[in-house]
Amino acid sequence: MHRRIAIGGFQHETNTFCPLPTVWQDFQTPGAWPGQTNGKAIFETFAGANIPLAGFIDAAAPECDLVPLLWTAAEPAGYVTREAFDRISGEIVLGIAEAGPLDAVYLDLHGAMVTEDHDDGEAELLRRIRAVVGPDLPIAVSLDLHGNLSRAFFERASCVSIYRTYPHLDMAETGARAYRLLSELLERGEPFARAWRQVDYLIPITAQSTMHVPGDRLYAMLPGLEGEGVSSIDIAMGFPPADTPDTGASIFAYGADPKAVDGAVQAMLDALHEAEPAFFDPLIPAREAVCEAMRLSEGATRPVVIADPQDNPGAGGMGDSTGLLRALLDEGVEGAALSMLWDPQTACAAHAAGQGAEIAVSLGGFHPDSGGAAIETSVRVEALSDGTFPFTGPMYGGSTARVGPSACLKIIHDRADIRVVVGSIRCQNADQAMFSAFGIIPASQRILAIKSAVHFLGDYAPIAERVLFAKAPGANPCPIDEIAYTRLRPGIRLGPGGRVFAR
Ligand SMILES: [Zn+2]
Repeated sequence: MHRRIAIGGFQHETNTFCPLPTVWQDFQTPGAWPGQTNGKAIFETFAGANIPLAGFIDAAAPECDLVPLLWTAAEPAGYVTREAFDRISGEIVLGIAEAGPLDAVYLDLHGAMVTEDHDDGEAELLRRIRAVVGPDLPIAVSLDLHGNLSRAFFERASCVSIYRTYPHLDMAETGARAYRLLSELLERGEPFARAWRQVDYLIPITAQSTMHVPGDRLYAMLPGLEGEGVSSIDIAMGFPPADTPDTGASIFAYGADPKAVDGAVQAMLDALHEAEPAFFDPLIPAREAVCEAMRLSEGATRPVVIADPQDNPGAGGMGDSTGLLRALLDEGVEGAALSMLWDPQTACAAHAAGQGAEIAVSLGGFHPDSGGAAIETSVRVEALSDGTFPFTGPMYGGSTARVGPSACLKIIHDRADIRVVVGSIRCQNADQAMFSAFGIIPASQRILAIKSAVHFLGDYAPIAERVLFAKAPGANPCPIDEIAYTRLRPGIRLGPGGRVFAR
């Protein structure tokens, strides 16, 4: 007989330093992902998408009766409001309560949700579900690589699978792994032996990529630690811009043999300690990054890419920070393009003026305290878009961008030759379509300025002469020792080799 599994997803990565609260409407509005999708529409909306739920569905559908609940995600920002969390988790819990007899629940969660009331939103969601289904029903969870998880979460989830790539290229694959682990649990008929440990230092987000040392080496160890008695072991690297007692990396393992499971987690913890000095934060001041990019671009045939990680909307930056653009202008750079500056007002003005018009604008700078002042300048409107276009890169490919009314603007300047893409809905630039949809061919630019921390590497590293990481103002602070923590757990170290946090 087919097993009945209720499936759903509720994703948010909460940057508690971001000034913008995350409200219910943010979970309804499509952005990099579709807005809230309910019931059977899930099957059609996510078919072929690189998200965990889609991978889970593909793996499970031939063998199971799936009961679709809802799936929703909001662009990373500040605390999830009580209203948003209660309403969406309430719908999930009600859906499970009304689903009839179930063999299991699968949830596609992020792992770094912080709400106005709860430091660990995922742990609270599981508490509410357990209140309905009891302590024994298997609940399988897949997580983003950036989760900040608590012991309460670990105890309430029956098994956990986590992305193994950053940029996250394996999201759908992680959903499929979550299904295989859940199947094994259901076959087994009793809970897994399990182990969990938190790592005692914070890892800067810009040092977490699995395309570089030491992330590549650490993640490559995981399959080797699985095997006899160990069904699964995964690492969450943590999401540093969140001021909670459980911020930081943690390791999860499940299997049949308690000793082997514990040994695998300990081996991974030891490896993370050994790797500590190798986690290197690559940020250099924006002005220096621009000068270095100009030097490197002399005679280069490929663009030099400058990332702006501290204003990455994919981690709770606003996307309106002007620091890197200011540095490009001040240095009089020729042949640069920046995407995407979040500026609904300028996008609207560009649409009103029309293609080819020259207009005076005030670019970005809505949060001058965290992101720098607006840039007053004149621009020529080179391209206009409704902001709906297909992503084409390895991470988001198969999904549709929805950045709202948007435009390519050429800044009118006596020395610099710079184009800026402005959009109305905050969106990280992790895909070349964020330029090409506006008529800019990324590979033919001298310098590409990109609002992203690491995800952009998936699509841009293959075309880049070099990649630099600029330190410009923004609401996604990257150097750990510059983050104004007050609530971390005592004893954790502020970055690799960093000082010990004390309240
Ligand atoms: Zn992530």
